[in-house]
Amino acid sequence: MPEGQTTPQVALEARSPFDLRVNQGTGVPEADVRSALATGDMGFLHSFTTGATVDGPGVRVVAWTAGCMWRCRYCHNPDTWTMSNGIPVSITRAAEELRKYRHGLRVMSGGFTLSGGEPLMQDRFAAKLFAAAHGMGIHTALDTNGYYGERLSDAELETIDLVLLDFKTADPERHKQLTGMDNAPTRGFAERLAALRRPVWLRYVLVPELTDDPEDLARTAAFAAGLGNVQRVDVLPFHQMGRFKWHKLGIPYTLEEAQPPSAEAVERACEQFRAEGLETH
Ligand code: SF4
Repeated sequence: MPEGQTTPQVALEARSPFDLRVNQGTGVPEADVRSALATGDMGFLHSFTTGATVDGPGVRVVAWTAGCMWRCRYCHNPDTWTMSNGIPVSITRAAEELRKYRHGLRVMSGGFTLSGGEPLMQDRFAAKLFAAAHGMGIHTALDTNGYYGERLSDAELETIDLVLLDFKTADPERHKQLTGMDNAPTRGFAERLAALRRPVWLRYVLVPELTDDPEDLARTAAFAAGLGNVQRVDVLPFHQMGRFKWHKLGIPYTLEEAQPPSAEAVERACEQFRAEGLETH
């Protein structure tokens, strides 16, 4: 759908990304989806949320994109996997939405985070939205698994003040088992960001018996520390808040019985990152 053409004025704001939203974009012709992806004039968003304090510094407005090519076994938001589960939103409307918040975000030392799903599935839309936000003086953050990092030019990366890099595991085989995908592109993107000296926060979801192996953690910590641009590591305890989505969507869920890690396990993981000189949260 070309920019300027009316898109349905569906409420973008959700209470949280844990709202289940499906089939919001069905009815958009395939040719329009392809054109939107190529030009970035339109994106597909699960929702906008406001007031988050965990997706970058300060208080954040977060746009959750639809579409992800990974299939992480512990994904909290499988309803963001499919592009057609997103609301079609023109770049103009998305930028207007951000403009509403720009003064408040500056006062609260916050900013705008593009998350998902995987935002770089819609890399042209992401690049345009970051350029718009940056132009408004809003701090910008990209929450990404890094797989499509090469889709952004160095100049486009300059409009992103912080990359929240979702790093699943340093072990290539385990990475495939966890996500269905290779981790070489993510590592490559991390190394490119390091070479460009772009700030990164590493995010690591700790799942008992899946991502808490001390050797794995040691390799991940050594890799992160070796980059030299990782400002902090967020160790995120696995939780079951997304389980109902797997059930509602009818997708087989393999972590039915998985428990959140204990406080001690989280602390042990943090300690492994700190041992490499990294700051943890
Ligand atoms: S990369 Fe993120 S959105 Fe995609 S499947 Fe994994 S956890 Fe879910």
